[in-house]
Amino acid sequence: MAKISSVCVYCGSSFGHVSRHREWAARLGRALAERGLTLVYGGGGVGLMGALAQACLAAGGTVIGVLPRFLMRKERGLRALTRLEVVDSMHARKERMFALADAFIVLPGGFGTLDETFEVLTWKQLGLHDKPIVLVDSDGYWGPLRALMDRIVEDGFAPARAHHLLRFVPTIEEALASLLEAPEPAIAPSSPGRL
Ligand code: AMP
Repeated sequence: MAKISSVCVYCGSSFGHVSRHREWAARLGRALAERGLTLVYGGGGVGLMGALAQACLAAGGTVIGVLPRFLMRKERGLRALTRLEVVDSMHARKERMFALADAFIVLPGGFGTLDETFEVLTWKQLGLHDKPIVLVDSDGYWGPLRALMDRIVEDGFAPARAHHLLRFVPTIEEALASLLEAPEPAIAPSSPGRL
């Protein structure tokens, strides 16, 4: 697996009601800066996304945002980023974020966060890439997704090795250690229609 120098973070465009999620977004931003890893994210200044990017910038980090033009106002695009790429569509945003990143970290978020995570998950399932995808289980947020993945495998909609597509970790520090120290488990490219 290639050396990791940039990390795409998916997380909520809201703060949510649990203060730990907000604290951990800022902590992740700082931790990326401290390790010299470029942050790639959705470009907005709102919610966890904004807290993440602002903390990374304040700690001297490099931050690339990718934001569709029509969301510039709604998600309060941050012009102070190292680079803000304004694109034409949600699809272009996801493609660009994917291309810029060596790995993905997912913090709590809503439907947009899930959409982005499932896209890179399903691309990985299809053998289109082997970039690590790490979910940080802040306050047990991803427990229901883990349970759903177990059920998907149990009911035969994915093989047991689908569990290797995502890594669940309990802290920000373990997310970064997991990316920087542990090699991605090899998953053979799938044949059409199979994992
Ligand atoms: P949310 O988790 O719903 O707060 O959204 C997090 C981020 O995902 C926001 O920047 C949304 O604009 C973005 N988002 C929502 N839906 C999509 C989508 N279909 N493709 C790409 N990004 C999306």
